[in-house]
Amino acid sequence: MTGALTGPLPPGATIGILGGGQLGRMTALAAARLGYRCHVFSPTPGEPGTLVTAASTIAPYEDAAALDRFAEAVDVVTFEFENVPATTVERLAARRPCRPGIRALSTCQDRLVEKAFLERAGVPVGPWAAIHSAADLPAALARVGLPAVLKTTRLGYDGRGQAIVRTAEEAEAALARLSPHPLIAEAFIPFVAEISAVAARGVDGTTVTYDAVENRHAHHILDLSFAPARVPESAAEAARHHASAVARELDLVGVLAVEFFLLADGSLLGNEVAPRPHNSGHWTIDACQASQFDQHARAVAGLPLAPTERHADAVMRNLVGPEGMSLWPALAAAPGLSLHLYGKAEARPGRKMGHATRLFPPGTLSSSPESILLSHL
Ligand code: AMP
Repeated sequence: MTGALTGPLPPGATIGILGGGQLGRMTALAAARLGYRCHVFSPTPGEPGTLVTAASTIAPYEDAAALDRFAEAVDVVTFEFENVPATTVERLAARRPCRPGIRALSTCQDRLVEKAFLERAGVPVGPWAAIHSAADLPAALARVGLPAVLKTTRLGYDGRGQAIVRTAEEAEAALARLSPHPLIAEAFIPFVAEISAVAARGVDGTTVTYDAVENRHAHHILDLSFAPARVPESAAEAARHHASAVARELDLVGVLAVEFFLLADGSLLGNEVAPRPHNSGHWTIDACQASQFDQHARAVAGLPLAPTERHADAVMRNLVGPEGMSLWPALAAAPGLSLHLYGKAEARPGRKMGHATRLFPPGTLSSSPESILLSHL
């Protein structure tokens, strides 16, 4: 790695962040507390990250001259968005340390590569098959069965680029709609809950994990996270164990989240990996001494990681689109609630505008009805 750092970044040094979204914004806010400056590189102006950082570059990810100037201006590079082109990170990595590196990025950019990687890392996954052309469909369906989920291998998120199919005819129609991209066919998993775990790994290889959380989606977008997950202890521990193993296998420096399906028998199947702070880890800002963003800033800067202990139970709700945004005055006035808004100018449908977290004394989540947990949220 060119320009390898030999020790922690000194306060006043600059962390370069690829991507202008809220994950970079919250990382920058955490980095600022440690005395660092951040410089956001974003193709679009006015993004949440650029509004809180000392500097920003607005240019396409393919703009070589802008990338070279950005590299000159920063001491280390990270990303808050895994769909940054690999060539962008390669160019920067030749000039500055990139944390995490190209291995984590490229593994998580492609669902086929990611699934094979999860298997190698010892994380159980459901039946899956690659579909490179229409001719692969019958064999793929024979392998995964019906119903199945067809997903584009790249650039899919929040349910985009995927279809649940119940018959071979539906699968053919979905294939026609989602092609010409290569697809992955997955068995439809009859999960009883979705859980995730966030891990952080430092430059020295030290790995820490947060309590696993239970996630609920609305319209394919994360709606609620319950921390800790109300699942058997063995499943919660397995999620942390797998997140740690994935961070190690990716040689990650930074933070990642692994999402799982919990089955009725208490076992887990890995779904996907996000090699960056994750929406299901936002509760850590309010419920832990050090949040996932603090850990990310620490890892990227080469500092020791901080404890991950949770001092409260937490429920996090995402504020999505105009409906979510319309709640902010009430949420700002609600007692005991932390409101986080991302500064986005326009509340388009489906856009994550902010989140709110309510804390409870430890032990409350497992012993209280949801009507109590969700009041004021
Ligand atoms: P993903 O983009 O892979 O995270 O999928 C988005 C959401 O779709 C997941 O959080 C699940 O709720 C659902 N989903 C994805 N894959 C499957 C599957 N193989 N079986 C059942 N539900 C799925």
